This record gives sequence, structure tokens and C-alpha cells, in this order.
Amino acid sequence: MGKTTKIEWTDSSWNPIRAHNLKTGRVGWYCEHATTGCEHCYAERLNTAFGTGLPFKPGHRKDVEIFLDGMMLTAPLRWKKPSMVFVCSMTDLFADFVKDEWIEQIFAAMLETEHRFQVLTKRPERMNRWVKEWLAGISPNLLENIWLGVSCERQEEADERIPLLLDTPATIRFVSAEPLLGPINFGCQGCGTVSDAHKIWCTVLKRAPTVGIDWVIVGGESGSGNRLMEPAWARSIRDQCNEAGVAFFMKQMQGKRKIPDDLMVREWPIPIPEKYPVML
Ligand code: SF4
Repeated sequence: MGKTTKIEWTDSSWNPIRAHNLKTGRVGWYCEHATTGCEHCYAERLNTAFGTGLPFKPGHRKDVEIFLDGMMLTAPLRWKKPSMVFVCSMTDLFADFVKDEWIEQIFAAMLETEHRFQVLTKRPERMNRWVKEWLAGISPNLLENIWLGVSCERQEEADERIPLLLDTPATIRFVSAEPLLGPINFGCQGCGTVSDAHKIWCTVLKRAPTVGIDWVIVGGESGSGNRLMEPAWARSIRDQCNEAGVAFFMKQMQGKRKIPDDLMVREWPIPIPEKYPVML
């Protein structure tokens, strides 16, 4: 399968979690806002126009039946060309309305194919817990084709979510700083008096053999009502990545602004380390 999505950092998206509007019968997707980064959710706009017709603001769970779409679940098995696949671009795989057994079936489906899957969440607590429990009985090498990532829009979310990502067994870990709504300091600045969370950060961009961030995506908010992204915030992240040898991908500026030449860096696909063991 070739490129089938407009999202620049992947080849295609895959959405086996679907929803059915109980009043209108329309089928689409379901999610619930989790954080300020969700305020102008692109998936919500698509769902309102082309899916169930319902917004993703909490309060609509009773209006839908959320289900695992069996045909969609097995779709990657039918894609001939190995691709990079963004998993659940229209929802959050680790939201509490997604049943454990569905997550298990989705992970099992991913492991059956040659594709590389990118799982991105704003709910890393559950991802951390779930992946550890699931892997407990099987070889950690099985996760080689599944990349795990968290979205972080500001320092606050980064401080909360990245330590959880780092504590989650994965071959490749990535951060999506989109929509970027404030500066983010990823790394060790020679700090001495820092929180526990920040101490963990000090290793983040240093790329210790088994613990580190491999890839950072940055993007401003798009669509109507888009919020400020100072180019300086993106430049700072680019420079931090450069310094630490971490791949960087500049997806977009705020609104329809053009990406300045110096920020037009798009490292993708990133090199996969030959031997990069997962630590349980
Ligand atoms: S978690 Fe993702 S899909 Fe769900 S509301 Fe937030 S931005 Fe949208």
C-alpha cells in the first residue's frame, strides 16, 4: 500500500476502533478530550463532518456504541507493500472506553505483519501499565515493529507524560509536540535542583542504550481558532534534538504559515537501531 494519508510523518492511518451513532445510525469514530491539546482536535472535525456527527467533548458516550471493526482489524494483513502506519489516528487507543481485549487484538494484529506501526497517546499511564502486563509473558523482541509515542503540547504535559513513556518497554519511542503551545525543555541543562521527573528527563535526549527518545515531531495548530506557536519554540526543540542526535520532524507551522527554510527538517523514516533491546 502506498501513501494514503495527508499526515506527513506516516504512510497511512489505521482505525479499527469505530463508533455507531445510536440515534442517527451514522458510523464514524469516538474520542473524548483529555487535555488542552485536544481543544481543536482534527479527528473531531472529521468525525463531526463525515463520521457519527458528534463532537468529542465528554458527554456523548451514551449516544454511541463503540466497537472493534473486524474488517478494519485485519486490513493491514491485506496491504502488500510494507508501510508506516499511524494507529488510531481518529481516537486514542489507551482511552478508558477502549476495552483491554480490543487493545490486545490490535497489538496481536500488528505483530502479524511486516508494517511498522506508530501508536501515539495522550494517556501514557494506561499504555505503560498495559504494555508491561501484556509483555510479561512473551518475548520483548515482539515489539520491534511497534513504535510508542506520547503527545506533549507544553512543558507541563511533557513533564507528566515523557517519564511514563520512558518507563514503557519499546524499541522506538517518539514524542509528538503538536499542537505546540509553549516552549519545551527536553534535556539536561546541567541542572542540580530539579524534580524527579526532570531527573529522568536528563537522560532523555542523551540516548542511553535502552532508554531515550528516538524521534520528535513538532507542529503548530491548524484550522480555525489556531493558537500561538512561536517559531522560537520549534527552533529550540530542533536544536535540542540536534545536540542529542535525536531525529527531528517539522510537520507544520501555526495555521497556514510557511515553514521557514531553517526549520524545514524532516528526518523520516528514522534509522532503526540494529540491536536495541527492550528492557522490561
Ligand atoms: S485524544 Fe486525540 S483524538 Fe482524542 S480528542 Fe484528543 S486530540 Fe482528539
